[in-house]
Amino acid sequence: MKKQTIINMTPHAVTVHFEKCANCGDTRIHGTDLGYWDEGHAGGMGACGDMHQWVEEVRKFAPSGQTIRLEMETEPRRPIDGIPTSVIKFGEPIGLPEQADGVYYIVSQIVKSACPERTDLLVPTDVMRDTNGNIVGCRALGR
Ligand SMILES: [Zn+2]
Repeated sequence: MKKQTIINMTPHAVTVHFEKCANCGDTRIHGTDLGYWDEGHAGGMGACGDMHQWVEEVRKFAPSGQTIRLEMETEPRRPIDGIPTSVIKFGEPIGLPEQADGVYYIVSQIVKSACPERTDLLVPTDVMRDTNGNIVGCRALGR
């Protein structure tokens, strides 16, 4: 497979918890049967058939130090019940690198939504929280 690189463009570490087969390296989403099997795997079940040896795997992406922000404009609107209201208009992304083969960027959902033509932007999905509600990781990267 061609080399693939994932660069975290958010200010926070992103931790992905998943399961990986100790034999063949196939992966699936943590706590599910959801795996993506490449064509050529017998029966669509991956290289080991239904005999995968799933082990927990964690990949941590430290912040790269670069971030992407969106141009932003605040337009005040008529107050509701005496409370000021506004509409925020988002513009062009600032700091978004050119798309490059095999390079993917972890970004916020708002940046991803602002750039629907970019296929190289990933967001943490299926977020995992501890008992206090703090985000401790995610189970996949959303494309
Ligand atoms: Zn396997």
